[in-house]
Amino acid sequence: MNAPHLDEQTLLAYWLGETDETQTDAIDLHLLGCDPCGRTLDDLVALGDAVRRAFDLGLVHAFVSGAFVQRLVDEGRRVREYRLAHNGSVNCSAAPEDEVLVARIEAPLAGVERIDAVLRLSFAQDAEYRAEDIPFDPASGQILMVPKIAIVRGLPAHVLTVRLIAHANSGQSTLGEYTLNHSPWAG
Ligand SMILES: [Zn+2]
Repeated sequence: MNAPHLDEQTLLAYWLGETDETQTDAIDLHLLGCDPCGRTLDDLVALGDAVRRAFDLGLVHAFVSGAFVQRLVDEGRRVREYRLAHNGSVNCSAAPEDEVLVARIEAPLAGVERIDAVLRLSFAQDAEYRAEDIPFDPASGQILMVPKIAIVRGLPAHVLTVRLIAHANSGQSTLGEYTLNHSPWAG
């Protein structure tokens, strides 16, 4: 692969979610095989303001369906999964060879009509982001969260808390609260 290196402006646009699907795919592919560009991206991510902005815009954490994760596995992606019991916590990290991170968050979903997730990130001045109406399969008893690994890999140790809020006939209630203690890869 002899693609030219990515300049900072391109990487920042990518990181902020401003590139289109074709560009994003090409950049993802480049980053998988290029350490210098990975380091440039790491340097950008080290800027606290940029992290805060991306987090606030909901660009760092996506909630996805089980079918989406299964497709990544079927494609042969290197997927690292963490499971969180109801109201649980986990210590997590991303290895250099990982391509996808998945948090399987267990919750009692019977009778729930809609779920919002409120995320708090410890190091970004306690930034808070609310993801509304996230996808879920009630029968699975799980919510699936996929952080953008290129961003998470560059972050310092931090704590992410996830609060799930259920909407049902009876109104809103907290479905569960979870803690992800993230560390940079120690290897
Ligand atoms: Zn490169």
